[in-house]
Amino acid sequence: MSDAINKIFGIDLGTTYSSIAYVDEYGKPVIIPNAENQRITPSVVFFDGSEIVVGDVAKESAKLYPNEVVSFIKRSMGEANFLYEYDGKTYRPEEISCYILRKVAQDAEQTIGEKVQDVVITCPAYFGINEREATRKAGEIAGFNVRQIINEPTAAAIAYGTVQETENRVVLVYDLGGGTFDITMIDIQESSIDVICTGGDHNLGGKDWDDRIVAFLVQEFQRQTQSEEDILEDPDTWQDLQLSSEKSKKILSQRDKTPISITHGGDRVKVELSRDKFLEITEDLLERTIALTHEMLKDAKNKGYEHFDEIIMVGGSTRMPQIPDRIRQEFGMEPRMFDPDEAVAKGAAIYGWKLSLNDGLIKRIAEKTNRSVDDEEDIIETTPKQIMEEVAKEMSEETGVTLSAVKRSTMKIRDVASKSFGVVARRPNNQEGVFNLILKNTVVPVETKRTFYTPEANQERVLIRIMENETNEKVVSVEHSIEIGTAVLDLPEGLPEDSPVEITFNLNREGRLQITAIETSENRQVVAKIETSSVIQGKELAEAIERAQHLVVH
Ligand code: AMP
Repeated sequence: MSDAINKIFGIDLGTTYSSIAYVDEYGKPVIIPNAENQRITPSVVFFDGSEIVVGDVAKESAKLYPNEVVSFIKRSMGEANFLYEYDGKTYRPEEISCYILRKVAQDAEQTIGEKVQDVVITCPAYFGINEREATRKAGEIAGFNVRQIINEPTAAAIAYGTVQETENRVVLVYDLGGGTFDITMIDIQESSIDVICTGGDHNLGGKDWDDRIVAFLVQEFQRQTQSEEDILEDPDTWQDLQLSSEKSKKILSQRDKTPISITHGGDRVKVELSRDKFLEITEDLLERTIALTHEMLKDAKNKGYEHFDEIIMVGGSTRMPQIPDRIRQEFGMEPRMFDPDEAVAKGAAIYGWKLSLNDGLIKRIAEKTNRSVDDEEDIIETTPKQIMEEVAKEMSEETGVTLSAVKRSTMKIRDVASKSFGVVARRPNNQEGVFNLILKNTVVPVETKRTFYTPEANQERVLIRIMENETNEKVVSVEHSIEIGTAVLDLPEGLPEDSPVEITFNLNREGRLQITAIETSENRQVVAKIETSSVIQGKELAEAIERAQHLVVH
Protein backbone atom coordinates (compact mmCIF):
# COMPACT_ATOMS: atom_id res chain seq x y z
CA MET A 1 0.00 0.00 0.00
CA SER A 2 1.18 3.49 -0.69
CA ASP A 3 2.71 5.44 2.16
CA ALA A 4 0.05 8.06 1.52
CA ILE A 5 -2.23 5.92 3.65
CA ASN A 6 -1.46 5.41 7.28
CA LYS A 7 -1.84 1.72 8.06
CA ILE A 8 -4.33 1.03 10.82
CA PHE A 9 -4.35 -2.52 12.14
CA GLY A 10 -7.40 -4.39 13.41
CA ILE A 11 -7.00 -6.45 16.57
CA ASP A 12 -9.52 -8.98 17.82
CA LEU A 13 -8.74 -9.21 21.54
CA GLY A 14 -10.64 -12.41 22.24
CA THR A 15 -11.42 -14.23 25.47
CA THR A 16 -9.68 -17.37 24.32
CA TYR A 17 -7.85 -16.36 21.13
CA SER A 18 -6.65 -13.07 19.64
CA SER A 19 -5.60 -12.07 16.16
CA ILE A 20 -4.41 -9.13 14.10
CA ALA A 21 -5.16 -8.10 10.52
CA TYR A 22 -4.49 -5.31 8.05
CA VAL A 23 -5.74 -4.40 4.60
CA ASP A 24 -3.27 -5.13 1.82
CA GLU A 25 -2.50 -3.15 -1.32
CA TYR A 26 -5.39 -4.84 -3.14
CA GLY A 27 -7.87 -3.72 -0.50
CA LYS A 28 -8.18 -7.21 0.98
CA PRO A 29 -8.10 -7.88 4.72
CA VAL A 30 -5.27 -10.21 5.66
CA ILE A 31 -4.59 -11.98 8.95
CA ILE A 32 -0.95 -11.76 10.04
CA PRO A 33 0.24 -15.06 11.53
CA ASN A 34 2.15 -15.10 14.81
CA ALA A 35 5.76 -16.22 15.34
CA GLU A 36 4.52 -19.81 15.65
CA ASN A 37 2.92 -19.38 12.22
CA GLN A 38 -0.62 -19.57 13.58
CA ARG A 39 -3.38 -17.21 12.57
CA ILE A 40 -4.85 -17.01 16.05
CA THR A 41 -2.96 -16.74 19.32
CA PRO A 42 -4.31 -18.12 22.60
CA SER A 43 -5.10 -15.18 24.92
CA VAL A 44 -3.11 -16.81 27.69
CA VAL A 45 -0.32 -15.13 29.66
CA PHE A 46 2.44 -17.00 31.50
CA PHE A 47 4.49 -15.09 34.07
CA ASP A 48 7.79 -16.93 33.72
CA GLY A 49 10.29 -15.31 36.10
CA SER A 50 11.25 -12.03 34.51
CA GLU A 51 9.71 -13.03 31.18
CA ILE A 52 6.18 -12.74 29.92
CA VAL A 53 5.11 -15.53 27.58
CA VAL A 54 1.87 -15.33 25.60
CA GLY A 55 0.11 -17.84 23.36
CA ASP A 56 0.47 -21.56 22.83
CA VAL A 57 3.50 -21.99 25.09
CA ALA A 58 1.64 -20.17 27.87
CA LYS A 59 -1.41 -22.35 27.35
CA GLU A 60 0.67 -25.51 27.55
CA SER A 61 2.54 -24.19 30.61
CA ALA A 62 -0.75 -23.96 32.46
CA LYS A 63 -0.48 -27.67 33.24
CA LEU A 64 2.84 -27.31 35.01
CA TYR A 65 2.48 -23.83 36.46
CA PRO A 66 -1.22 -23.28 37.04
CA ASN A 67 -0.65 -20.34 39.40
CA GLU A 68 1.60 -18.46 37.02
CA VAL A 69 -0.72 -18.64 34.04
CA VAL A 70 -3.63 -16.27 33.48
CA SER A 71 -6.42 -17.23 31.05
CA PHE A 72 -9.81 -15.66 30.23
CA ILE A 73 -8.63 -12.25 31.44
CA LYS A 74 -11.20 -10.58 29.19
CA ARG A 75 -13.93 -11.76 31.52
CA SER A 76 -12.41 -9.57 34.24
CA MET A 77 -12.02 -6.39 32.18
CA GLY A 78 -13.44 -3.40 34.02
CA GLU A 79 -13.55 -5.26 37.33
CA ALA A 80 -12.28 -3.17 40.22
CA ASN A 81 -11.46 -6.17 42.37
CA PHE A 82 -9.46 -8.25 39.96
CA LEU A 83 -5.79 -8.08 40.87
CA TYR A 84 -3.31 -10.76 39.86
CA GLU A 85 -0.27 -11.00 42.10
CA TYR A 86 3.07 -12.20 40.87
CA ASP A 87 6.49 -11.77 42.41
CA GLY A 88 5.32 -9.06 44.81
CA LYS A 89 3.64 -6.97 42.09
CA THR A 90 -0.02 -6.67 41.30
CA TYR A 91 -1.43 -6.58 37.80
CA ARG A 92 -4.78 -5.30 36.59
CA PRO A 93 -6.70 -6.92 33.70
CA GLU A 94 -5.66 -4.00 31.45
CA GLU A 95 -1.98 -4.71 31.92
CA ILE A 96 -2.37 -8.46 31.41
CA SER A 97 -4.43 -7.80 28.25
CA CYS A 98 -1.72 -5.43 27.07
CA TYR A 99 0.69 -8.39 26.97
CA ILE A 100 -1.65 -10.23 24.61
CA LEU A 101 -1.89 -7.15 22.40
CA ARG A 102 1.86 -6.76 22.44
CA LYS A 103 2.41 -10.40 21.47
CA VAL A 104 0.16 -10.24 18.38
CA ALA A 105 1.54 -6.83 17.38
CA GLN A 106 5.20 -7.74 17.93
CA ASP A 107 4.87 -10.91 15.87
CA ALA A 108 3.04 -8.97 13.15
CA GLU A 109 5.83 -6.39 13.08
CA GLN A 110 8.36 -9.17 12.57
CA THR A 111 6.36 -10.64 9.71
CA ILE A 112 5.52 -7.52 7.75
CA GLY A 113 8.50 -5.40 8.80
CA GLU A 114 6.42 -2.41 9.83
CA LYS A 115 5.60 -0.87 13.16
CA VAL A 116 2.12 -1.40 14.56
CA GLN A 117 1.12 2.01 15.81
CA ASP A 118 -2.49 2.86 14.98
CA VAL A 119 -5.02 0.21 15.88
CA VAL A 120 -8.72 -0.51 16.03
CA ILE A 121 -9.49 -2.98 18.83
CA THR A 122 -12.72 -4.92 19.12
CA CYS A 123 -14.80 -5.73 22.18
CA PRO A 124 -18.11 -7.54 22.70
CA ALA A 125 -21.13 -5.39 21.91
CA TYR A 126 -22.19 -6.28 25.38
CA PHE A 127 -19.34 -4.45 27.10
CA GLY A 128 -20.34 -1.53 29.31
CA ILE A 129 -18.48 1.74 29.83
CA ASN A 130 -15.80 0.42 32.17
CA GLU A 131 -15.05 -2.72 30.16
CA ARG A 132 -14.66 -0.60 27.01
CA GLU A 133 -12.48 1.92 28.75
CA ALA A 134 -10.35 -0.88 30.15
CA THR A 135 -9.94 -2.30 26.62
CA ARG A 136 -8.81 1.10 25.36
CA LYS A 137 -6.39 1.42 28.27
CA ALA A 138 -4.93 -2.02 27.50
CA GLY A 139 -4.13 -0.69 24.02
CA GLU A 140 -2.64 2.52 25.39
CA ILE A 141 -0.46 0.63 27.85
CA ALA A 142 0.75 -1.49 24.94
CA GLY A 143 1.91 1.78 23.38
CA PHE A 144 -0.65 1.98 20.55
CA ASN A 145 -2.56 4.91 19.24
CA VAL A 146 -6.01 3.42 19.77
CA ARG A 147 -8.06 4.93 16.96
CA GLN A 148 -11.27 3.30 17.99
CA ILE A 149 -12.85 0.51 19.98
CA ILE A 150 -15.56 -1.15 17.89
CA ASN A 151 -18.03 -3.91 18.61
CA GLU A 152 -17.16 -7.45 17.53
CA PRO A 153 -20.46 -8.16 15.72
CA THR A 154 -20.21 -4.81 13.94
CA ALA A 155 -16.70 -5.74 12.83
CA ALA A 156 -17.95 -9.13 11.63
CA ALA A 157 -20.78 -7.43 9.72
CA ILE A 158 -18.30 -5.04 8.10
CA ALA A 159 -16.19 -7.99 6.94
CA TYR A 160 -19.33 -9.74 5.72
CA GLY A 161 -20.74 -6.62 4.06
CA THR A 162 -17.49 -6.12 2.17
CA VAL A 163 -17.27 -9.59 0.67
CA GLN A 164 -20.97 -9.96 0.01
CA GLU A 165 -22.21 -9.12 -3.48
CA THR A 166 -25.81 -8.55 -2.55
CA GLU A 167 -26.38 -5.45 -0.53
CA ASN A 168 -29.41 -4.09 1.23
CA ARG A 169 -30.10 -6.86 3.66
CA VAL A 170 -30.89 -7.20 7.32
CA VAL A 171 -28.69 -9.78 9.00
CA LEU A 172 -28.50 -11.29 12.46
CA VAL A 173 -24.96 -11.80 13.68
CA TYR A 174 -24.93 -14.74 16.08
CA ASP A 175 -21.50 -14.48 17.69
CA LEU A 176 -20.56 -17.22 20.14
CA GLY A 177 -16.92 -16.90 21.10
CA GLY A 178 -14.83 -18.34 23.90
CA GLY A 179 -16.30 -16.25 26.66
CA THR A 180 -19.07 -14.10 25.29
CA PHE A 181 -22.29 -14.34 23.35
CA ASP A 182 -23.47 -11.41 21.28
CA ILE A 183 -26.55 -11.29 19.12
CA THR A 184 -26.91 -8.29 16.88
CA MET A 185 -29.25 -7.15 14.13
CA ILE A 186 -27.55 -5.17 11.41
CA ASP A 187 -28.94 -3.42 8.37
CA ILE A 188 -26.36 -3.52 5.58
CA GLN A 189 -26.98 -1.00 2.80
CA GLU A 190 -24.75 0.15 -0.03
CA SER A 191 -23.62 3.30 1.73
CA SER A 192 -24.22 2.41 5.34
CA ILE A 193 -24.07 -0.28 7.98
CA ASP A 194 -26.54 0.29 10.80
CA VAL A 195 -26.65 -1.70 13.99
CA ILE A 196 -30.31 -1.90 14.94
CA CYS A 197 -30.25 -3.79 18.20
CA THR A 198 -27.84 -5.76 20.26
CA GLY A 199 -28.12 -8.23 23.11
CA GLY A 200 -26.30 -11.17 24.62
CA ASP A 201 -24.44 -12.25 27.70
CA HIS A 202 -20.82 -11.50 28.42
CA ASN A 203 -20.52 -14.54 30.61
CA LEU A 204 -21.64 -17.14 28.15
CA GLY A 205 -19.26 -18.72 25.70
CA GLY A 206 -17.29 -21.78 24.70
CA LYS A 207 -15.69 -21.86 28.13
CA ASP A 208 -19.06 -22.70 29.66
CA TRP A 209 -19.35 -25.69 27.35
CA ASP A 210 -15.85 -26.72 28.51
CA ASP A 211 -16.84 -26.27 32.15
CA ARG A 212 -19.79 -28.62 31.70
CA ILE A 213 -17.43 -31.29 30.41
CA VAL A 214 -15.13 -30.63 33.37
CA ALA A 215 -18.06 -31.09 35.79
CA PHE A 216 -19.05 -34.30 34.00
CA LEU A 217 -15.50 -35.64 34.27
CA VAL A 218 -15.32 -34.87 37.97
CA GLN A 219 -18.53 -36.83 38.51
CA GLU A 220 -17.26 -39.72 36.43
CA PHE A 221 -14.00 -39.76 38.40
CA GLN A 222 -15.93 -39.85 41.65
CA ARG A 223 -18.21 -42.61 40.38
CA GLN A 224 -15.44 -44.80 39.09
CA THR A 225 -13.14 -44.35 42.10
CA GLN A 226 -16.05 -44.33 44.53
CA SER A 227 -14.75 -41.22 46.22
CA GLU A 228 -16.30 -37.86 47.01
CA GLU A 229 -13.11 -35.90 46.60
CA ASP A 230 -13.40 -32.62 44.72
CA ILE A 231 -10.47 -33.16 42.39
CA LEU A 232 -10.75 -29.59 41.07
CA GLU A 233 -9.20 -28.35 44.30
CA ASP A 234 -5.91 -29.62 42.94
CA PRO A 235 -4.78 -26.83 40.56
CA ASP A 236 -2.83 -29.27 38.35
CA THR A 237 -5.84 -31.49 37.86
CA TRP A 238 -8.03 -28.46 37.30
CA GLN A 239 -5.77 -27.16 34.51
CA ASP A 240 -5.46 -30.62 33.02
CA LEU A 241 -9.22 -31.09 32.90
CA GLN A 242 -9.73 -27.62 31.40
CA LEU A 243 -7.38 -28.40 28.54
CA SER A 244 -8.68 -31.90 27.89
CA SER A 245 -12.29 -30.66 28.01
CA GLU A 246 -11.69 -28.03 25.36
CA LYS A 247 -9.93 -30.61 23.19
CA SER A 248 -12.77 -33.12 23.63
CA LYS A 249 -15.33 -30.46 22.80
CA LYS A 250 -13.56 -29.74 19.54
CA ILE A 251 -13.35 -33.45 18.71
CA LEU A 252 -17.09 -33.75 19.32
CA SER A 253 -17.61 -31.13 16.62
CA GLN A 254 -16.30 -33.76 14.22
CA ARG A 255 -17.08 -37.12 15.79
CA ASP A 256 -19.83 -38.87 17.72
CA LYS A 257 -17.75 -39.72 20.75
CA THR A 258 -14.35 -39.16 22.31
CA PRO A 259 -12.26 -40.97 24.93
CA ILE A 260 -10.90 -38.84 27.79
CA SER A 261 -8.52 -39.91 30.50
CA ILE A 262 -8.36 -38.29 33.93
CA THR A 263 -5.26 -38.57 36.04
CA HIS A 264 -5.36 -37.47 39.64
CA GLY A 265 -3.42 -38.45 42.77
CA GLY A 266 -2.13 -41.68 41.28
CA ASP A 267 -5.52 -42.75 39.91
CA ARG A 268 -6.22 -42.94 36.23
CA VAL A 269 -9.77 -43.10 34.98
CA LYS A 270 -10.98 -43.53 31.41
CA VAL A 271 -14.21 -41.94 30.29
CA GLU A 272 -16.04 -41.94 27.00
CA LEU A 273 -18.06 -38.86 26.21
CA SER A 274 -20.65 -39.17 23.47
CA ARG A 275 -21.98 -36.25 21.49
CA ASP A 276 -25.48 -37.01 22.76
CA LYS A 277 -24.33 -36.78 26.37
CA PHE A 278 -22.46 -33.58 25.57
CA LEU A 279 -25.61 -32.10 24.03
CA GLU A 280 -27.61 -33.12 27.07
CA ILE A 281 -25.28 -31.51 29.62
CA THR A 282 -25.03 -28.27 27.63
CA GLU A 283 -28.56 -27.96 26.30
CA ASP A 284 -29.55 -25.14 28.66
CA LEU A 285 -26.55 -23.06 27.49
CA LEU A 286 -27.65 -23.32 23.88
CA GLU A 287 -31.24 -22.57 24.85
CA ARG A 288 -30.08 -19.44 26.65
CA THR A 289 -28.59 -18.12 23.40
CA ILE A 290 -31.94 -18.74 21.69
CA ALA A 291 -33.86 -16.97 24.48
CA LEU A 292 -31.47 -14.00 24.31
CA THR A 293 -31.94 -13.89 20.53
CA HIS A 294 -35.71 -13.67 20.98
CA GLU A 295 -35.28 -10.91 23.56
CA MET A 296 -33.24 -8.91 21.09
CA LEU A 297 -35.75 -9.57 18.30
CA LYS A 298 -38.47 -8.13 20.51
CA ASP A 299 -36.48 -4.91 20.91
CA ALA A 300 -35.88 -4.83 17.16
CA LYS A 301 -39.59 -5.22 16.51
CA ASN A 302 -40.24 -2.17 18.66
CA LYS A 303 -37.89 -0.30 16.38
CA GLY A 304 -39.83 -1.39 13.32
CA TYR A 305 -37.62 -4.27 12.25
CA GLU A 306 -39.84 -7.34 12.06
CA HIS A 307 -37.86 -9.46 9.61
CA PHE A 308 -34.32 -10.39 8.83
CA ASP A 309 -32.91 -11.90 5.66
CA GLU A 310 -30.06 -13.94 6.96
CA ILE A 311 -28.29 -15.29 10.04
CA ILE A 312 -24.53 -15.28 9.99
CA MET A 313 -22.54 -17.12 12.58
CA VAL A 314 -19.16 -15.99 13.82
CA GLY A 315 -17.03 -16.96 16.82
CA GLY A 316 -15.20 -20.26 17.21
CA SER A 317 -17.98 -21.89 19.23
CA THR A 318 -20.41 -21.81 16.30
CA ARG A 319 -18.34 -24.71 14.96
CA MET A 320 -20.26 -26.98 17.33
CA PRO A 321 -22.77 -28.57 14.95
CA GLN A 322 -25.63 -28.33 17.44
CA ILE A 323 -25.55 -24.54 17.08
CA PRO A 324 -26.48 -24.33 13.37
CA ASP A 325 -28.89 -27.27 13.88
CA ARG A 326 -30.78 -25.42 16.58
CA ILE A 327 -30.82 -22.15 14.65
CA ARG A 328 -32.16 -23.89 11.58
CA GLN A 329 -34.87 -25.50 13.68
CA GLU A 330 -35.80 -22.27 15.48
CA PHE A 331 -35.77 -19.78 12.62
CA GLY A 332 -36.40 -22.02 9.60
CA MET A 333 -33.42 -20.73 7.68
CA GLU A 334 -29.95 -21.96 6.93
CA PRO A 335 -27.41 -20.02 9.00
CA ARG A 336 -24.22 -19.07 7.22
CA MET A 337 -20.94 -19.80 8.88
CA PHE A 338 -18.79 -16.80 8.12
CA ASP A 339 -15.07 -16.98 8.73
CA PRO A 340 -15.69 -17.71 12.43
CA ASP A 341 -12.16 -17.19 13.73
CA GLU A 342 -11.07 -14.31 11.54
CA ALA A 343 -14.08 -12.17 10.61
CA VAL A 344 -13.74 -9.89 13.64
CA ALA A 345 -10.06 -8.98 13.18
CA LYS A 346 -10.59 -8.56 9.43
CA GLY A 347 -13.63 -6.34 9.97
CA ALA A 348 -11.63 -4.21 12.42
CA ALA A 349 -8.86 -3.90 9.83
CA ILE A 350 -11.35 -2.83 7.16
CA TYR A 351 -12.78 -0.30 9.59
CA GLY A 352 -9.25 1.01 10.24
CA TRP A 353 -8.61 1.19 6.53
CA LYS A 354 -11.78 3.20 6.02
CA LEU A 355 -10.71 5.50 8.84
CA SER A 356 -7.38 6.21 7.22
CA LEU A 357 -8.86 6.68 3.75
CA ASN A 358 -11.45 8.93 5.29
CA ASP A 359 -8.72 10.89 7.13
CA GLY A 360 -6.98 11.39 3.79
CA LEU A 361 -10.14 12.51 2.06
CA ILE A 362 -11.03 14.97 4.79
CA LYS A 363 -7.52 16.42 4.84
CA ARG A 364 -7.59 16.97 1.11
CA ILE A 365 -11.08 18.46 1.09
CA ALA A 366 -10.11 20.78 3.94
CA GLU A 367 -7.06 21.98 2.02
CA LYS A 368 -9.05 22.49 -1.15
CA THR A 369 -11.92 24.31 0.48
CA ASN A 370 -9.97 26.15 3.18
CA ARG A 371 -11.90 24.56 5.99
CA SER A 372 -10.97 23.06 9.29
CA VAL A 373 -10.75 19.29 9.59
CA ASP A 374 -12.44 19.33 12.99
CA ASP A 375 -15.95 18.55 11.95
CA GLU A 376 -15.41 15.47 9.84
CA GLU A 377 -19.03 14.43 9.47
CA ASP A 378 -19.99 17.87 8.38
CA ILE A 379 -17.17 18.28 5.92
CA ILE A 380 -18.10 15.12 4.02
CA GLU A 381 -21.80 15.95 3.98
CA THR A 382 -21.52 19.56 2.91
CA THR A 383 -18.79 19.33 0.30
CA PRO A 384 -20.20 19.73 -3.21
CA LYS A 385 -20.34 16.46 -5.13
CA GLN A 386 -17.98 17.68 -7.80
CA ILE A 387 -15.21 18.51 -5.32
CA MET A 388 -15.75 15.14 -3.60
CA GLU A 389 -15.31 13.39 -6.95
CA GLU A 390 -12.14 15.33 -7.72
CA VAL A 391 -10.60 14.66 -4.35
CA ALA A 392 -11.53 10.98 -4.38
CA LYS A 393 -9.96 10.63 -7.82
CA GLU A 394 -6.78 12.38 -6.75
CA MET A 395 -6.53 10.17 -3.75
CA SER A 396 -7.14 7.02 -5.72
CA GLU A 397 -4.38 7.97 -8.16
CA GLU A 398 -1.96 8.86 -5.42
CA THR A 399 -2.53 5.79 -3.28
CA GLY A 400 -3.30 3.14 -5.85
CA VAL A 401 -6.54 2.32 -4.05
CA THR A 402 -9.49 1.88 -6.42
CA LEU A 403 -11.83 4.84 -6.79
CA SER A 404 -14.83 2.87 -5.57
CA ALA A 405 -12.94 1.83 -2.44
CA VAL A 406 -12.02 5.45 -1.70
CA LYS A 407 -15.65 6.45 -2.14
CA ARG A 408 -16.84 3.61 0.04
CA SER A 409 -14.63 4.85 2.83
CA THR A 410 -17.20 7.54 3.49
CA MET A 411 -19.72 4.81 4.23
CA LYS A 412 -21.57 5.47 7.45
CA ILE A 413 -21.30 2.90 10.20
CA ARG A 414 -23.74 3.53 12.99
CA ASP A 415 -23.80 1.57 16.21
CA VAL A 416 -26.12 1.57 19.20
CA ALA A 417 -25.70 1.87 22.97
CA SER A 418 -25.42 -1.60 24.47
CA LYS A 419 -26.74 -0.51 27.87
CA SER A 420 -28.93 2.17 29.40
CA PHE A 421 -27.21 4.93 31.38
CA GLY A 422 -28.58 7.18 34.07
CA VAL A 423 -28.08 8.87 37.42
CA VAL A 424 -29.44 8.22 40.89
CA ALA A 425 -32.05 10.74 42.02
CA ARG A 426 -35.12 10.81 44.23
CA ARG A 427 -38.52 9.99 42.80
CA PRO A 428 -41.59 12.06 43.80
CA ASN A 429 -42.29 9.45 46.50
CA ASN A 430 -38.82 10.28 47.91
CA GLN A 431 -37.42 6.86 47.08
CA GLU A 432 -34.15 6.60 45.21
CA GLY A 433 -34.25 5.43 41.62
CA VAL A 434 -32.05 5.43 38.55
CA PHE A 435 -33.24 7.96 35.96
CA ASN A 436 -32.01 6.74 32.60
CA LEU A 437 -30.84 9.52 30.30
CA ILE A 438 -29.74 7.20 27.50
CA LEU A 439 -31.67 4.06 26.72
CA LYS A 440 -30.19 0.80 25.48
CA ASN A 441 -30.15 0.40 21.68
CA THR A 442 -30.25 4.17 21.03
CA VAL A 443 -28.14 5.11 18.01
CA VAL A 444 -24.76 6.58 19.01
CA PRO A 445 -23.43 9.25 19.18
CA VAL A 446 -26.20 10.61 21.34
CA GLU A 447 -26.60 13.48 23.76
CA THR A 448 -29.40 13.84 26.32
CA LYS A 449 -30.06 16.44 29.00
CA ARG A 450 -32.21 16.34 32.05
CA THR A 451 -32.70 18.77 34.91
CA PHE A 452 -32.63 17.57 38.51
CA TYR A 453 -33.18 19.64 41.68
CA THR A 454 -31.12 19.90 44.84
CA PRO A 455 -32.90 18.31 47.81
CA GLU A 456 -31.51 20.79 50.38
CA ALA A 457 -30.80 24.50 50.82
CA ASN A 458 -27.13 25.60 51.05
CA GLN A 459 -25.93 22.38 49.53
CA GLU A 460 -22.18 22.51 48.87
CA ARG A 461 -21.99 19.93 46.17
CA VAL A 462 -23.91 17.38 44.20
CA LEU A 463 -22.64 13.84 44.00
CA ILE A 464 -23.64 12.35 40.69
CA ARG A 465 -23.80 8.56 40.76
CA ILE A 466 -23.52 7.28 37.21
CA MET A 467 -25.33 4.02 36.62
CA GLU A 468 -25.54 1.39 33.91
CA ASN A 469 -28.36 -1.12 33.42
CA GLU A 470 -29.96 -3.49 30.97
CA THR A 471 -33.52 -2.28 31.16
CA ASN A 472 -35.31 -0.15 28.66
CA GLU A 473 -37.34 1.84 31.15
CA LYS A 474 -36.87 5.51 31.99
CA VAL A 475 -36.74 4.95 35.74
CA VAL A 476 -35.44 1.74 37.30
CA SER A 477 -34.55 0.63 40.79
CA VAL A 478 -31.00 1.11 42.02
CA GLU A 479 -30.65 -2.65 42.64
CA HIS A 480 -31.13 -3.35 38.95
CA SER A 481 -28.23 -1.11 37.98
CA ILE A 482 -24.53 -1.07 38.61
CA GLU A 483 -22.61 2.04 39.55
CA ILE A 484 -19.95 2.72 36.95
CA GLY A 485 -18.54 5.83 38.55
CA THR A 486 -19.27 9.07 40.30
CA ALA A 487 -18.79 12.75 39.52
CA VAL A 488 -18.94 15.81 41.76
CA LEU A 489 -20.36 19.26 40.97
CA ASP A 490 -19.41 21.99 43.45
CA LEU A 491 -22.21 24.47 44.02
CA PRO A 492 -22.04 28.22 44.75
CA GLU A 493 -22.88 29.29 48.31
CA GLY A 494 -26.37 29.98 49.50
CA LEU A 495 -28.45 28.14 46.95
CA PRO A 496 -32.04 27.50 47.96
CA GLU A 497 -33.61 24.05 48.04
CA ASP A 498 -34.83 22.83 44.66
CA SER A 499 -32.11 24.61 42.70
CA PRO A 500 -31.88 23.19 39.20
CA VAL A 501 -28.86 21.20 38.06
CA GLU A 502 -28.80 20.22 34.44
CA ILE A 503 -27.01 16.97 33.63
CA THR A 504 -25.94 16.08 30.11
CA PHE A 505 -24.85 12.60 29.02
CA ASN A 506 -22.92 12.35 25.83
CA LEU A 507 -22.20 8.87 24.55
CA ASN A 508 -19.79 8.90 21.64
CA ARG A 509 -19.47 6.59 18.66
CA GLU A 510 -17.31 4.07 20.47
CA GLY A 511 -19.39 4.01 23.63
CA ARG A 512 -17.42 6.45 25.80
CA LEU A 513 -19.51 8.51 28.13
CA GLN A 514 -18.92 12.15 28.93
CA ILE A 515 -20.93 13.89 31.60
CA THR A 516 -21.49 17.60 31.96
CA ALA A 517 -23.34 19.18 34.85
CA ILE A 518 -24.51 22.79 34.94
CA GLU A 519 -25.72 24.61 37.99
CA THR A 520 -28.13 26.89 36.17
CA SER A 521 -28.53 29.78 38.65
CA GLU A 522 -24.95 31.03 38.16
CA ASN A 523 -24.39 28.94 35.08
CA ARG A 524 -21.46 27.10 36.59
CA GLN A 525 -20.46 24.23 34.47
CA VAL A 526 -18.31 21.22 35.13
CA VAL A 527 -17.29 18.51 32.81
CA ALA A 528 -17.55 15.86 35.42
CA LYS A 529 -14.64 13.49 35.37
CA ILE A 530 -15.90 10.03 36.05
CA GLU A 531 -14.12 8.64 39.06
CA THR A 532 -14.00 4.90 39.04
CA SER A 533 -11.77 2.27 40.53
CA SER A 534 -12.77 -0.20 37.82
CA VAL A 535 -10.36 1.14 35.22
CA ILE A 536 -6.67 1.76 35.64
CA GLN A 537 -5.82 5.47 35.76
CA GLY A 538 -3.48 8.13 37.17
CA LYS A 539 -0.21 7.00 38.69
CA GLU A 540 -1.03 3.31 38.30
CA LEU A 541 -1.61 3.82 34.57
CA ALA A 542 1.63 5.78 34.15
CA GLU A 543 3.54 3.01 35.92
CA ALA A 544 1.97 0.31 33.77
CA ILE A 545 2.87 2.24 30.59
CA GLU A 546 6.42 2.65 31.86
CA ARG A 547 6.71 -1.07 32.65
CA ALA A 548 5.29 -2.08 29.26
CA GLN A 549 7.79 0.10 27.39
CA HIS A 550 10.67 -2.10 28.44
CA LEU A 551 8.87 -5.31 27.83
CA VAL A 552 9.49 -8.01 25.28
CA VAL A 553 6.74 -10.58 25.15
CA HIS A 554 7.67 -14.11 24.10
P1 AMP B 1 -13.32 -17.06 19.62
O1 AMP B 1 -13.33 -16.30 20.92
O2 AMP B 1 -14.30 -16.60 18.64
O3 AMP B 1 -11.95 -17.27 19.07
O4 AMP B 1 -13.84 -18.52 19.98
C1 AMP B 1 -13.06 -19.40 20.68
C2 AMP B 1 -13.94 -20.50 21.21
O5 AMP B 1 -14.33 -21.34 20.15
C3 AMP B 1 -13.24 -21.36 22.23
O6 AMP B 1 -14.11 -21.65 23.31
C4 AMP B 1 -12.94 -22.61 21.44
O7 AMP B 1 -12.87 -23.75 22.27
C5 AMP B 1 -14.13 -22.68 20.52
N1 AMP B 1 -13.89 -23.48 19.34
C6 AMP B 1 -12.95 -23.31 18.38
N2 AMP B 1 -13.00 -24.29 17.46
C7 AMP B 1 -13.99 -25.13 17.86
C8 AMP B 1 -14.54 -26.35 17.34
N3 AMP B 1 -14.05 -26.92 16.23
N4 AMP B 1 -15.56 -26.91 18.01
C9 AMP B 1 -16.05 -26.35 19.14
N5 AMP B 1 -15.59 -25.22 19.68
C10 AMP B 1 -14.57 -24.62 19.05
